Amino acid sequence: MSLARFMTLALLDRRGGYYATRTPIGAAGDFTTAPEISQCFGELLGAASARTWLDLGRPSRVLLVELGPGRGTLLLDLLRATAVVPGFRAAIELHLVEPSPALRAVQAQRLAAFGPHFHDSLAEVPADAPLLLVANEVLDALPIRQLVRDADGWRERLVALDAAGRLGFVLSPTTIAAPIGETEDEPDALPPGTVVELGPAREALAAEIALRLARLGGLALLVDYGRLGAVGDSLRAVRDHAPADPLAEPGTVDLSADVDFAALRRVARAAGAAVYGPVSQGVFLGRLGIMLRLERLARGRSAEERAKLEAGVHRLVAPEAMGERFKVLALTGPSLPPPAGFLAEEAWHG
Ligand code: SAH
Repeated sequence: MSLARFMTLALLDRRGGYYATRTPIGAAGDFTTAPEISQCFGELLGAASARTWLDLGRPSRVLLVELGPGRGTLLLDLLRATAVVPGFRAAIELHLVEPSPALRAVQAQRLAAFGPHFHDSLAEVPADAPLLLVANEVLDALPIRQLVRDADGWRERLVALDAAGRLGFVLSPTTIAAPIGETEDEPDALPPGTVVELGPAREALAAEIALRLARLGGLALLVDYGRLGAVGDSLRAVRDHAPADPLAEPGTVDLSADVDFAALRRVARAAGAAVYGPVSQGVFLGRLGIMLRLERLARGRSAEERAKLEAGVHRLVAPEAMGERFKVLALTGPSLPPPAGFLAEEAWHG
């Protein structure tokens, strides 16, 4: 089977999929994420979202959509922080796109006060009001294909069983079309052994978001680790905060791969959205005032509490931690100024 099919089954199969059966996020789980590290993350994404709501002219109804909300922490921080914006909370209708029954249960409990609507996919979310969408570390979990340059052309990397019944990677027996238009260089000029990663599900999702924004207005903030380009094998498996074998025990490890922001940008622009960035997470949060927010939070706290708050913010913004590796891509609908955290010259026109 293709790597994409393997990732879909290993992550989302109803009976054995990783996300379908467990709640892996946080110190006690397999990996942790920005909203679990510092409350400032969700608060500042909230500030940027509320800013766009004001720029939209304070519509009386706006859809706040989170894709893959994990434990719901980002939304709790976002909703608490934006309670100070008059009229915003009353305008919000909360829509969560979450395929995992296990994580839905956590989200339903923690966000009960906000009456969330649950969906299996973005297609199910109503399309009759402007949109404020956030997604953190979701696109990296969507399946990818890997194509490998071979001596005589391109082959797809497949997952197959060997004679002993163990899963392993093999190349497709026949060659396939070269990934033209997916790489900076002419694909056939790339050396043998080069891996190119394609994310059709990621691109379809970015296009769907962009189409909605172009038609209904609003903002999407897509935060993830990744690169501008498709070249290089970035598939990784994680268990208990450490690297693991992606094939050894499917369904028990998290699988993810770098997001190709260049590909997302192309499809979002083609679908009619305005595109900004990506800018690094450190720069984005810095512009939104994370240091000022930290100072306010730390005021009057014990030295120990202060150190903890500072360590969390440092981890999100420091280049050697998550600050550079994680990036923020913003998409907006028509007639809006650059979203908070982005400069006019960071608009991408293709
Ligand atoms: N955003 C959260 C969780 C990140 S983990 C945080 O920052 O902590 C990835 C999340 O994406 C999980 O909630 C997972 O169930 C969800 N997910 C996986 N595949 C998805 C898909 N196809 N569509 C939407 N969400 C998905």
